[in-house]
Amino acid sequence: MPSRSSSNQTDQGSDISATQSTSLAAGDDTPLTPSPLISVDDSVLQFYITTFCPHYRNRNVLESAIAFMREHEAPRHLLLAYVYGLRSRLQSNPEDQVEAQSHLGRGTNILWNRLQTDDLASSDANIQAVLLLIAYTADFGQPSEVRVHTDALRTMIDQRGGLDAFGHNPVLQQQLWAIEHSREIHLTFDCEQSCQNALRFPGDLRLCTGTETA
Ligand SMILES: [Zn+2]
Repeated sequence: MPSRSSSNQTDQGSDISATQSTSLAAGDDTPLTPSPLISVDDSVLQFYITTFCPHYRNRNVLESAIAFMREHEAPRHLLLAYVYGLRSRLQSNPEDQVEAQSHLGRGTNILWNRLQTDDLASSDANIQAVLLLIAYTADFGQPSEVRVHTDALRTMIDQRGGLDAFGHNPVLQQQLWAIEHSREIHLTFDCEQSCQNALRFPGDLRLCTGTETA
């Protein structure tokens, strides 16, 4: 066996990213050399975005939301937990399941620490994290725990003064509006009527206070 020399030279520089995206698009059998530009986490996110429901129209909202999630530590881990959880289910890959659990644990720990120590416990990032926790729990976790997270979210929104107070962060506000009508496997989003996926909470999730039915 030849010694491990530096056979994957990187002096092709900018060619690497071009080759990478071409091969992703064409799906050819170019050898998979890990590019320093695309991490494993990025590739699973890419997988999720490219396989997202074709009925969903607001691609800009989806991509902006994912960008916001990635900027903040707790939401980033919970986003990755969701995406690994989905790929694990679709491809029955036990390694993805391990990744999902690992990110879920880290994201949840960071979130609870922030909730106890932050001056602004109901920050946009923390609310985003709870939204992701609701989506993960409903789709891949224990559905019986959804109510705990929903109650937390409702309290946080009340502390901020209601859904109207999120006009400065339209992408987060959009998710808050959408979560009641969200679809399975759609992260925190709803979809068109023609969508094949079931409603995640068929008529039994109320975020806004005052509309509860006993
Ligand atoms: Zn859909």
